[in-house]
Amino acid sequence: MSINIEDNVARIRERMDRAAGGRPVTLVAATKMNDAQAVRRAIAAGVDACGENRVQEMMEKLGQDAYAGAPLHFIGSLQKNKVKFVVGNCDLIHSVNSVELLEAIARKAAALDIVQDVLLEVNIAAEASKTGFLPEYLPQLLESAGNFSSVRVRGLMAIPPIAEKPGENRRYFAQMRELFIDIGAKKYDNVTMDFLSMGMSEDFEDAIAEGSNMIRVGSAIFGPRNYGTAPGTPGI
Ligand SMILES: *Cc1c(COP(=O)(O)O)cnc(C)c1O
Repeated sequence: MSINIEDNVARIRERMDRAAGGRPVTLVAATKMNDAQAVRRAIAAGVDACGENRVQEMMEKLGQDAYAGAPLHFIGSLQKNKVKFVVGNCDLIHSVNSVELLEAIARKAAALDIVQDVLLEVNIAAEASKTGFLPEYLPQLLESAGNFSSVRVRGLMAIPPIAEKPGENRRYFAQMRELFIDIGAKKYDNVTMDFLSMGMSEDFEDAIAEGSNMIRVGSAIFGPRNYGTAPGTPGI
């Protein structure tokens, strides 16, 4: 059975609108493991941006002009040696999870004479298995953002733990909103809190209800990913 991407996007939009109560929310299609044709259909159906996880897959689809008409975001974990493929090709990098990565992005952006927009990934549940900045480390990092004039920190991103029960992650989303608001109230050079990227297929309504204004949705648009047959390693 074929997946009806158009209907799925329309239904997600309705659910987003209901959860947001009129507040604007950006829908980023998490396009990993979906081919150029599926990506084009999602763009035609009205997603606001596409988010890729793996650099190689992104470069293949860029070569096929898959993202024409939509901004391209990078949402997966990014190795420093792949930064050169992402900076300049992506309008927003959601997944800056270390100072070293921030520095590498800043260097590449400076070499290209551009300013790269990024989000800082927050390890909001302090999970040992996850990367991302612990909340208490953010102020120190943001103080130093002024040193990197070729990057602009536009907000925060989080991937909370996999919820066992619906609603279980709301407290993490609420903690993220507090951080977002607290940081936004302060003045840091090269930092503006415009985007709070949180919420995926299973929990985007909770995330929006707690203040998310950018959700990253994959399987609810494209159907379940077939990890069995796809080349390479799946990337979250
Ligand atoms: C795959 C992915 C998503 C979307 O996941 P779904 O559960 O399919 O909606 C969101 N964010 C990141 C970082 C991802 O890798």
